[in-house]
Amino acid sequence: MAVYFFNTLNRKKEEFKPLKDNEVGFYTCGPTVYNFAHIGNFRAYIFEDLLRRALKYHGYKVKQVMNLTDVDDKTIRDSQKVKMSLNDFTAQYKKAFFEDLKTLKIEAAEVYPAATDHIAEMIELIEVLMEKGYAYQASDKSVYFSIAKFPEYGKLAKIDMENQRAGVRIDTDEYEKDSVADFALWKAYSEADGDVMWDSPWGKGRPGWHIECSAMSMKYLGKTFDIHTGGVDNMFPHHEDEIAQSESANGCTYVNYWLHCAHLIVNGEKMSKSLGNFFTLRELIEKGYTGSEIRWVLLGTHYRKKLNFTFEACDQARTQLKKFSDMFIQLNKAQGGAVVEIDVLISETEEHFKRAIGDDLNISDALSAVYGLYNGVKKLVNDNCAGDYASLAKNDAEKIIIQFKRFNEVLDCLDFDVQEEIVEIDDDIQSLAEQRFQARNNRDWAEADRLRDELKERGYVVEDSKDGWNLKKID
Ligand code: AMP
Ligand code: ZN
Repeated sequence: MAVYFFNTLNRKKEEFKPLKDNEVGFYTCGPTVYNFAHIGNFRAYIFEDLLRRALKYHGYKVKQVMNLTDVDDKTIRDSQKVKMSLNDFTAQYKKAFFEDLKTLKIEAAEVYPAATDHIAEMIELIEVLMEKGYAYQASDKSVYFSIAKFPEYGKLAKIDMENQRAGVRIDTDEYEKDSVADFALWKAYSEADGDVMWDSPWGKGRPGWHIECSAMSMKYLGKTFDIHTGGVDNMFPHHEDEIAQSESANGCTYVNYWLHCAHLIVNGEKMSKSLGNFFTLRELIEKGYTGSEIRWVLLGTHYRKKLNFTFEACDQARTQLKKFSDMFIQLNKAQGGAVVEIDVLISETEEHFKRAIGDDLNISDALSAVYGLYNGVKKLVNDNCAGDYASLAKNDAEKIIIQFKRFNEVLDCLDFDVQEEIVEIDDDIQSLAEQRFQARNNRDWAEADRLRDELKERGYVVEDSKDGWNLKKID
């Protein structure tokens, strides 16, 4: 089955054709480890997790590389504020990041290279750019990439280079499109950097942010690889600059498919550290939400649409996920003889799900396949077993659970081990249910309905089963 992605490079949905038959190399811009990641950041990592799982679902072997930016303007600035060495400072946030990935059940990437372990590779790459005439050392001793030497500059972010000023330089890591300029590959040491410095052919200093990703992706994935991802804010200047550096140095295409996720927003604004409108994952966990619930919220909106974060969405996630675990509890009770037409439903929903996630990660369509199975099972059990899962054949129930587990290879939010809550029900409630059952057997529908309503008022729903009744407490 073909897989399609919306490629930012061409602004088109394209059929995905990896370089190697069955293997995909992909690079993900990872966290800058100067603080706890917020859930906006995790929206990006969940999107990338969905991407790797969707590729695996379609039978591809995946090699994902996610860098850790442990040296840049922000890490240096904040480590100095708390008077810690850069290494000790970033180590605590690396550790926290990996813990958070586990909480959200984000699958581990194959490689997590840290920038500070790859300074030599970065210097080597800058040397190539110097030799080939794409880079120059300015009077401030920093080394810059000359965008005038790379006529394709701007092809990812679609910048019209006609009227750009030539020779303007910028040495901050992040800047806006209207500051298009030669950007720093190597930043000459300044006192503000404290003891953070490395030797290089151009004197003491440190790498720029963009060269990190070019050097590390090339080392682990080769000069050309399949997919590069990040949030939309990474597109410019970061990814544009990565393309310029890598393609100039290597003389070949850097990346075939660029995928960018839209932002997570709060009240119409991007969730970000600088705006202060952020929640860390840890804060949400402290409020009582689970990793699965937050994962469900972050996963549920298509990655190219903005996701508006609300607590109502987290509450709804809890209700939805409980619906599934309730069904799994019931399916585990199956021990009867009723054989239902389950195979067609399973194969149709499987096909639907696979097609949907392969269609540019169309998660809403994929979830409609999951709900299709859920509703289909309910209907079959109602029609064939009078709503009583115990009378379903065990073999059929197992097939259904296996299919939900298959969906969960991608979703990883469903819980198959939830135990049924045993609630003590008072005798008078039991007696009302019994009276209702008798009224129903006597075809006294009015009395049966009255008793149902009374039970409801007292907080219980009564359900009929093959040989009696079940009571459920209303949440
Ligand atoms: P940073 O640590 O700032 O380099 O960001 C790490 C990743 O999170 C990048 O891919 C960003 O594009 C992404 N990101 C940051 N803020 C948000 C947000 N509000 N919504 C989605 N992705 C974000
Ligand atoms: Zn990057």
